[in-house]
Amino acid sequence: MSKKNAIVCLLIGVLMVTAAGCGKRQPEKSADVVVIGGGGAGLAAAVSAAENGASVILIEKASFLGGNTLLSGGAFNAVDPERQKNVPMNDALLKELKSYLEMDESEFGDFGPTLATLKQQIRDYLNSGDTSVLFDSVELHTIQTYLGGKRTDQNGYTITGDFELVRTMCSRALDAIKWLESHGLKVDDKITTVLGALWPRTHSTGGGKAIIDTLSSAAKKLGVEIMLETKGTELIVENGRVVGVKAQKADGSELILRANKGVVLATGGFGANPQMRAEYNTYWPELPLDMPTTNSPHATGDGIVMAKAVGADLVGMGFIQLMPSAHPKNGSLFSGVWGSAETQVFVNKDGKRFVNEYAERDVLAKAALEQKDALFFIICDQKIVGDRDISNMLEKGDVVKADTLEELAQKLGINVENFVAEIAKYNSYVDKQEDPDFHKPNFGNYKIDTPPFYATPRSPAVHHTMGGVKIDTLARVINTEGKAIPGLYAAGEVTGGIHAGNRLGGNALADIIVFGRIAGESAAKGR
Ligand code: ADP
Repeated sequence: MSKKNAIVCLLIGVLMVTAAGCGKRQPEKSADVVVIGGGGAGLAAAVSAAENGASVILIEKASFLGGNTLLSGGAFNAVDPERQKNVPMNDALLKELKSYLEMDESEFGDFGPTLATLKQQIRDYLNSGDTSVLFDSVELHTIQTYLGGKRTDQNGYTITGDFELVRTMCSRALDAIKWLESHGLKVDDKITTVLGALWPRTHSTGGGKAIIDTLSSAAKKLGVEIMLETKGTELIVENGRVVGVKAQKADGSELILRANKGVVLATGGFGANPQMRAEYNTYWPELPLDMPTTNSPHATGDGIVMAKAVGADLVGMGFIQLMPSAHPKNGSLFSGVWGSAETQVFVNKDGKRFVNEYAERDVLAKAALEQKDALFFIICDQKIVGDRDISNMLEKGDVVKADTLEELAQKLGINVENFVAEIAKYNSYVDKQEDPDFHKPNFGNYKIDTPPFYATPRSPAVHHTMGGVKIDTLARVINTEGKAIPGLYAAGEVTGGIHAGNRLGGNALADIIVFGRIAGESAAKGR
């Protein structure tokens, strides 16, 4: 071989080695179902897929499971005749119930027939002669979710929930609780109303951690492979079907996860992505980039971006929920004292109430933003605190305590006279079960009258992004042409269309567990 030929051969060899290097295949793993995101929806999907006979890999970008679900208080709405039979009806709720009889089904679109059924149920209840026990029905939950979610944004666009999705959530919520119980979750028998839930049907599930622990141990028992610190970066589409996901490990290495039957997106919302919030928000006049959030830092909207890239339709992206009552500095939902929504009393820096505390969260947040420094205090007495040890909260200043209402006002630096008069007036409303100022429809029988008294400072923070990927009742992701994208399913906060413009308190867990289960089953069955 001449010298020239030898050089040419050498060059070709180098090029071949380089080409082989460039085309180096990333490591691959495969399973029937790949779930992206290990919060409540993702874990529910993984467990459900495994229960339906699928092999499952779940990837989670954080170093731990749980997402925003882990940070939730565990409030779960479901119509539950067995537990609700211990909840008494009261005059204020009865008045609220009768108000549905005045509503016109022709103004309720797809929800009209449900309102008609509800009205008949209410008439039957009133005619039964026994209104001592709380009334509730899947139809009431459905209509309240619809009314609570129907909102118009700054551009004049009105959004309502998708009837089939809302109906699916409300009618399957109790079964979802029973499913969690079958996996070992302990659910309290006492029913309350979490803030913004509108009706006493909130179950206490022991907090988001209890749900995550229950589902992650069920997932492990069922053989789900959980890969932490593994971030889904791109959906893989072959011949129009989603067949897997590209992922990146914390050390920067990449891998491919192939799904024989389906990929479930369960990456949560974008509450912790200020730029994305600002880009999509059409509901709030402004949403400052530095507004605190109640969310985990991992709620950055990755799944929405990935789904959009493969043609998914997005719904309701402009509607973002502010939690009215978050820690004024860090957005935390914990570290404070309050009871069920009917027992909460809010006062502003002038010592005055400013809103019906039983209203929807966006109504409360809007009212709170209008107060001085967007700050208010949740007031309660010793009956709410009971024997809880709150010394840590008192030390940090997260809760202020005083033996008298006067002293409490002084410590808060608010108008003493106004405050004392306001609480006396509020207590008189509880006696009359009527609130002429703000029309609060439920007080329980709770008066602020037992010292010591407590105040928890609160302010609104970004809480839940209602918009997201469009799905159908089988949790299949729908594309911009209205067709299901083969192989792609989604559940939880990454989806939109259920809560519309405002989510009822306690409906998020119902949503993520109901649709997480459906998504897992659909993917396992390749529906
Ligand atoms: P949901 O209530 O809908 O389950 P959560 O916020 O509880 O939502 O959970 C979403 C989970 O998805 C979080 O644990 C988050 O860290 C995870 N996640 C978000 N983006 C990705 C991604 N690109 N890859 C893997 N996991 C992700």
